[in-house]
Amino acid sequence: MTIPRIAIIGGGLAGLYAAYRLHQLGIEFDLFEARSRLGGRILSTESGGFDLGPSWFWPDFQPLMHNLVAELGLPVFEQYTAGSTLVEDQVAGVVRKAGYLPGNASMRFEGGTGRLVEALAASLPSAKVHLNAALTSVRLEDQGVRLTFSGEQLQVPHYSSLWLALPPRLATGIQFTPGLLQPDLQQLMAVPTWMAAHAKYIARYARPFWREAGLSGDAFSRIGPLVELHDACNEGGAALFGFLGVGAAQRARIGEPDLKALCRAQLVRLFGDQAADPIEDYLHDWAADPFTATEQDQVASGAHGYLERGFSLAPPWGDMLRLIGSEATAEQGGYMEGALGAVDVAMQVHHRSAGINNPLRR
Ligand SMILES: Cc1cc2nc3c(=O)[nH]c(=O)nc-3n(C[C@H](O)[C@H](O)[C@H](O)COP(=O)(O)OP(=O)(O)OC[C@H]3O[C@@H](n4cnc5c(N)ncnc54)[C@H](O)[C@@H]3O)c2cc1C
Repeated sequence: MTIPRIAIIGGGLAGLYAAYRLHQLGIEFDLFEARSRLGGRILSTESGGFDLGPSWFWPDFQPLMHNLVAELGLPVFEQYTAGSTLVEDQVAGVVRKAGYLPGNASMRFEGGTGRLVEALAASLPSAKVHLNAALTSVRLEDQGVRLTFSGEQLQVPHYSSLWLALPPRLATGIQFTPGLLQPDLQQLMAVPTWMAAHAKYIARYARPFWREAGLSGDAFSRIGPLVELHDACNEGGAALFGFLGVGAAQRARIGEPDLKALCRAQLVRLFGDQAADPIEDYLHDWAADPFTATEQDQVASGAHGYLERGFSLAPPWGDMLRLIGSEATAEQGGYMEGALGAVDVAMQVHHRSAGINNPLRR
């Protein structure tokens, strides 16, 4: 076996956070990301920094996110909820209701959640971060783990450990030699990827005209295509966002231009004529994104999925291959907090096996 060196597969929050911690501790690693960008399910629009992926974290019960945000010095603010909520259905049409009182504060990142990705990436040596590197096969050899990627032939060393920072279902698409056992594959396949079946729409405006009308931007609809809407304003401008209630198969049939037109028409029904002409609008369909969703993710599971506590692959992979994505932990699996928690567990296991004490005591 060569010197201890960890290959992190996936440059979403889990992969980046793992790289950040390993780099702090001077442990050798390389990070490989299939897409041409970092962030995975975290995706903020280039102009305006509006979130097409996650928007919120909840510091009241997410200490890892709270601490990481403080450590990185990232500015955050509370989700806007002042004003009335709109409710729409076929019988009553659009009805204005008293706004709901938020329980735990939902916090957002100034400039979008992408700022978290940028801050973590900025702390890493660029030579260790490889984009456009989709892992296709993994082979166990005498010198360690050998990796093969699609596209460009990357020349990489052998690794002592492999940390898969991706949804468990995507791990089953990688060819292992020796192969993963059927029960392990079934367990990985059984974990739905949180939000992978969904699509998010954002409309950007010159002004937050709904706020001026005493509306919070929160709206719930039984008609759709948007079923849950919220204010998405930030320092980059004014915007509303919504989750689509239309299933992935139907979205694919309708197509993006028509879906956007239906969303704009709904915004006019809810918020009036000023909503008719957004400066720009965006739709991201995560179910159509092969580096997030699989065939099995085309229908929403509705529940958070995660690997069983203590899950470990059968030999020979158990000792050298860890899953560290958000769905790898029972503690808030599926959320950004889960991604951080899964990495912290992997760090603890790694340090225990390397005989280092209290690696995470900071
Ligand atoms: C619309 C939406 C809204 C959400 N809202 C919230 C929210 O408000 N709050 C919250 O806490 N969470 C929310 N989430 C969930 C949150 O985004 C995830 O928990 C978190 O981003 C997962 O990070 P991850 O690194 O575990 O996985 P991912 O972000 O999925 O990262 C996996 C990475 O692996 C890469 N990859 C895949 N296959 C390969 C391969 N073969 N080789 C190399 N790289 C590969 C992918 O390209 C990706 O970059 C939301 C998600 C979505 C989609």
